[in-house]
Amino acid sequence: MKTKLLKTISVLSLLANSAFAATEAPRPNILLILTDDHGYADVGFNNHKTDVKTPNLDALANEGVVFTDAYVAHPFCGPSRAALMTGRYPHKIGSDFNLPVNGSSTGIDPNEEFISKTLQRAGYFTGALGKWHLGELSPYHPNNRGFDEFYGFLGGGHKFFPSEYRPQYERLKKQGVKNFNDYITPLEHNGQEVRETEYITDALSREAVTFINKASEDKQQPFFLYLAYNAPHVPLEAKDEDLEKFSHIKDKKRQTYAAMVYAVDRGVEQITKALKDSGQYDNTLIVFMSDNGGKVSKGGVNKPLKEGKGSAHEGGHRVPMMMHWPAGVKGGAHYNYVVSALDLYPTFSHLAGAQLPTNKSLDGKDIWQAIISDKDARKGESIYVMRHRKAAHDVSVRRDEWKAVRTKASGKWQLFNIKDDISEKNDVAEKHKRLLQDMITDVADWSWSNIEPQWFHIHKEGDDWRQDDMPRYSETFSLKKGE
Ligand code: CA
Repeated sequence: MKTKLLKTISVLSLLANSAFAATEAPRPNILLILTDDHGYADVGFNNHKTDVKTPNLDALANEGVVFTDAYVAHPFCGPSRAALMTGRYPHKIGSDFNLPVNGSSTGIDPNEEFISKTLQRAGYFTGALGKWHLGELSPYHPNNRGFDEFYGFLGGGHKFFPSEYRPQYERLKKQGVKNFNDYITPLEHNGQEVRETEYITDALSREAVTFINKASEDKQQPFFLYLAYNAPHVPLEAKDEDLEKFSHIKDKKRQTYAAMVYAVDRGVEQITKALKDSGQYDNTLIVFMSDNGGKVSKGGVNKPLKEGKGSAHEGGHRVPMMMHWPAGVKGGAHYNYVVSALDLYPTFSHLAGAQLPTNKSLDGKDIWQAIISDKDARKGESIYVMRHRKAAHDVSVRRDEWKAVRTKASGKWQLFNIKDDISEKNDVAEKHKRLLQDMITDVADWSWSNIEPQWFHIHKEGDDWRQDDMPRYSETFSLKKGE
């Protein structure tokens, strides 16, 4: 399977800015670490006053680039991950909703090539660890989407302690149950059930180290590792030794959440060590981000951003993000322009020297040159969020310093200067009507090429969608209140 490919990319030509190293490097390994429902304020590199401890992530961030204005394409799990893997807005591929619960029979269209497949075609050794949530049957399985290795679970979440979920699973299996709750289904390795014994976050960190060591056997073949921790997504379950570190936090949910994030950070320390020990640290691009905002009712904090997971306000889809690559970027940088999770597909492909698939149009852009020269990658261009609710949508548009947003709750379009007003407190819609109308027209134009959702998470969502005559765009994109 491993081929001897040693293409080099000329980083020299790209690294015009003195903040970044001028070297000619082999194609980098790419390690994408994704956390789940991890709040904007819940990493030390974004918030030095946080009661969460992330010393290892912070150390990488300090030696790398912190992204202050990083957005995912959707404010909750499944659609956000679909966008990350396909490089397309979930609305363009009908994955606007989470997959149907428990053992769903559908998934992301197999014709939509994933970034893993693109990198695999370019000679990368590829692995996915942790939460998948993009389809459970064979055509949608990670091993059929460009991942040589998969260790984890296929559903949208999982309990963390095998000593708790395994007896539940065994009991139901004895009773003849066939369709198990995703959260107690045993983990698997390349389609084979495994008997995991460790706390899930620790198991995923262990498997990441194993993958890195395996990949180091042939350094001429770079690797792509997608490490998708399900922490700190519910259920809030942490190890006693991690909880003890946060005994001063009296709110039990917050204490547990902090301990779960700390467990991820302990794993990052092991992974960093494995990269160093195997001689791959300098030429591994590590990108860290969350799949959506922290869930405020479950211990997450997104301050100073408004609201959290699920929201079209900033707390829902603006996420903590950093990257680290000693051979590619010099440390201590902050990138203060808009980036989207959609940009990772074309950017990774560029760094890997990979050919993009010809049968689809990516919604993000290669931002590498903009990052290394500290330039705005999409001046005057917009990114969008649309979350469907019953009989209405929550929509937002971010363009330069402006954010236009309409939620079902507000019933009207609002406009914020997000650079001056990060918490979305001062609605300036009345002062800038022409700009607001222009941004609404922009997102309306974007929406016309959306396709119908290909599934609904629960039947009622589908019934509501049809009964309410969704998508009702003409009302959504009207400036008049309440229509
Ligand atoms: Ca999530």
